[in-house]
Order: sequence, then C-alpha cells, then structure tokens
Amino acid sequence: MYGTKAVYDIVVVGGGPAGALAAWAAADRGVSVLLIEKDREIGVPVRCAEGIAAATVKKFLDPDPQWVSAKIEGLRLYAPSGESIEFLEEGLGYVLERRVFDRELANRAAKAGADVWVSTCATGLMFDQDRLAGVRMASRGRDMTVRCRLVIAADGVESRVARWAKLRTMSSLRDLEVCTQYLLHNVAPEKGYCEFFVGEEIAPGGYAWVFPKGPDTANVGIGICGLYTRKRSSTDYLHEFIARWYPQSTPLAMVVGSVPVGVTLKEIVTDGVMIAGDAAHQVNPVSGGGIGTAMVAGEIAGRVGAEAIKAGDVSRNRLVRYPQEWEEVYGHYQKRAYRVKEAIHKLKDDTYNATAALLQRRNDVRLRDVFLTVLRHQPSLLIDVIRMFRK
Ligand SMILES: Cc1cc2nc3c(=O)[nH]c(=O)nc-3n(C[C@H](O)[C@H](O)[C@H](O)COP(=O)(O)OP(=O)(O)OC[C@H]3O[C@@H](n4cnc5c(N)ncnc54)[C@H](O)[C@@H]3O)c2cc1C
Repeated sequence: MYGTKAVYDIVVVGGGPAGALAAWAAADRGVSVLLIEKDREIGVPVRCAEGIAAATVKKFLDPDPQWVSAKIEGLRLYAPSGESIEFLEEGLGYVLERRVFDRELANRAAKAGADVWVSTCATGLMFDQDRLAGVRMASRGRDMTVRCRLVIAADGVESRVARWAKLRTMSSLRDLEVCTQYLLHNVAPEKGYCEFFVGEEIAPGGYAWVFPKGPDTANVGIGICGLYTRKRSSTDYLHEFIARWYPQSTPLAMVVGSVPVGVTLKEIVTDGVMIAGDAAHQVNPVSGGGIGTAMVAGEIAGRVGAEAIKAGDVSRNRLVRYPQEWEEVYGHYQKRAYRVKEAIHKLKDDTYNATAALLQRRNDVRLRDVFLTVLRHQPSLLIDVIRMFRK
C-alpha cells in the first residue's frame, strides 16, 4: 500500500526524466526502487520549451500523439538583422507535451516495478557510521525515513541531495542560462519549424526561441547568460522580443527557470550516492537542451546502480562505472560543445549578420555549415565543431 514500505534497495529523488529513467532501468533489473517527487503531480509544473530530438526519444519509447504536441522537420535561425537561414530534416524532432511525457516515463518505471510517491519531498540523508542508510522525507505532511542502500539524486538544477552527500554542485553564473518563457496564444507559428533568434541586444550569451505547440500557440522564450542578469532580467528581454515579433499575442502560461550550461560536475558519485540529469549538469551547453541527456544519464545511473546492489557493493569505486560510461556516451562530446558555446558567446552581431547573408543564398545549408562559417576566424575550434557534428 502507498507509503507503508520503508526499506528499498534504491531511492530515486526527483520524478523528472532523469529520475524516471533511473527508476525504470533499476526496477527492470529486479531491485526494489522508490521514486519520490515533491510536487503533487509528475510533470507539473512544466519548466521547459519541450523540444527534443526524435532519435533520442526513440531510444526509449515509441512516439505517441498523446505526448507529441508538434513534429519538427526544420530549424530556422534568425540573425539580428532579421535575415534567416533554415535547415530541413525529415523526422528531426518533437515539441513535447511534457506533463504527459514525464508522467509516461514515471508510468514506465512503475510498470517495471518501482513504487512512485508524489507529494514526497526529500529533506535529508541518513548515515550509519558514515555509510548511507536512508533518506529523510516529508510525505504528504508526514515526516518519515526510508532506509535504502543507494540514493540516485535526480532533483534538478537546484539539487540539494548532492550537497547533503558533500558533492560539489556550484556552477558559475557564466555557466547558467537564465530563462523566461510564455506559452503564447495568437502567434501562428509556422508548422514543423523551431525558430531561434540570436543577437547581443536580443539575448546576450543565449538565444530566443519559438517552438510551435499548436496551430495558434507556441512556447516563446529567452535564455540569457547568468552574467548579464545583473543589468537586465530575462523577462525584460523577453517582453521586448514579444513586443517586436508578436505584439498581438496573449500569454497563457509563464515559466522562469535556469539551465546549467557548463560541463558535467567533476564528481557525480560517492559512496552510496549517484547524481543524474540537471543535478549533475548533464545538459547540451550549446542548445541548453537537457531532456534527452537527462534520460540517457538516468538510464545509465539506474542500470549501474542496480548492478552494484546485486553485487553487494555500492562504494564509489564500483559506482564510477556510471561516470565512465557517461563520458564515453556523451561527456567527451559535451566538453567539445562547451568550447564551441564559449566561442559563440564572444561573437558580435556583425558576424551573425554576415553569416546569414552569406548562407541565405544557399539551399543546402546544414547546421554544421553555420558553425563553421561563424567560427572561421577561430581555426582552433574548427576541429571541435567538425567532431561535434560527427557524433
Ligand atoms: C525555460 C526552460 C526551457 C527549456 N527548454 C528545453 C527544451 O526545449 N529542450 C530540452 O531538452 N531541455 C529544455 N530545458 C531543460 C530541461 O527542462 C531539463 O534539462 C530537464 O528537465 C532535466 O531533467 P531532470 O530530470 O534532470 O530534472 P527536472 O526535470 O528538473 O526534474 C527534477 C524533479 O525533481 C523534483 N525535486 C526537486 N527536489 C526534490 C526533493 N527534495 N524531493 C523530491 N523531489 C524533488 C522536482 O520537483 C522535479 O520534478 C529547458 C529548461 C528551462 C528552464
């Protein structure tokens, strides 16, 4: 019955994509798993523009119209001058309905055998002579402790669990993208396109986006580098952007949040504890996309964690198989992408405008061409760009 069992092999904290995949992968291997989520409903509130590559989704699930708001077949990049370049690719990606998508991921974890408790907030870790022994939590107004051998912290960008385990989670403002987004009505986004807008005045150290949700609604947002928020907020930038491009629109929902756009934390495991997803800074630093990477990391953490439980060894020495696999699958790519992001942030509007003017006349442009053209004055980065797109 709900909330009565108080001993599990693994407790996963956080019911987002990282936590759900970790719980799913671990329960699938026959260990006992509890997934806890502090909010009353998995997937709510949505703090996301909901764009994801189709290939990433298909690694785990068959696409379902219940959680796909729009199919994406093209990207359009706008330079500050207003000129644009576009790329078309069949079956490129989706704009999700995340409240349904996240719930489906948790549902898969439950089907695999995990218990899921909502309205349950982790409040601390319990140690027995320095060995992890359980998680303290407030579950629907009741303080309780659940004993376990391993904790997977998938509690998002503001992760507290990792700090309780004495893992360093700090990131500089430079590596934090601060975002504001509205779900806007009356915007008539072009079907099948995700649009991006760059420029020092539009979104310093970031970009603005328009992701279609329906025939007359879109997620319209802006992310700016944390360093610039001292002068002006992301909300102010967004209001200016909307006034220019969508003056007739009406907001239906608002989201404010941040995304870690550095590289994965140095230490993401310690004795009895693993961190995954935004909590571990496992995000694409160029795009700020973290749904897919959270799923990939969560799956590895859940699988490695379950195998560690079965082997009777949850020491750091055993759990490092998770960061080792992550490095192979994504970490090395993330480091290259980070160097490219750093270079992009130094670009001036003139470079974007010249690139758009140059490539606009070609009809076979690929995203790689844009990066190569933009960065041609920094030859040291060309290898990183080429490798980034070879992945
Ligand atoms: C405005 C905005 C737009 C974005 N757009 C995109 C996009 O288009 N595409 C993309 O790929 N990524 C996007 N992202 C990033 C993406 O949302 C995250 O990278 C992704 O959700 C990370 O998944 P996660 O499971 O690691 O963390 P989260 O999805 O943040 O899940 C963490 C969960 O842990 C829960 N939790 C926290 N503390 C506790 C606790 N103590 N006890 C119990 N539960 C707890 C939270 O309530 C939350 O449900 C965007 C982010 C923002 C802010």
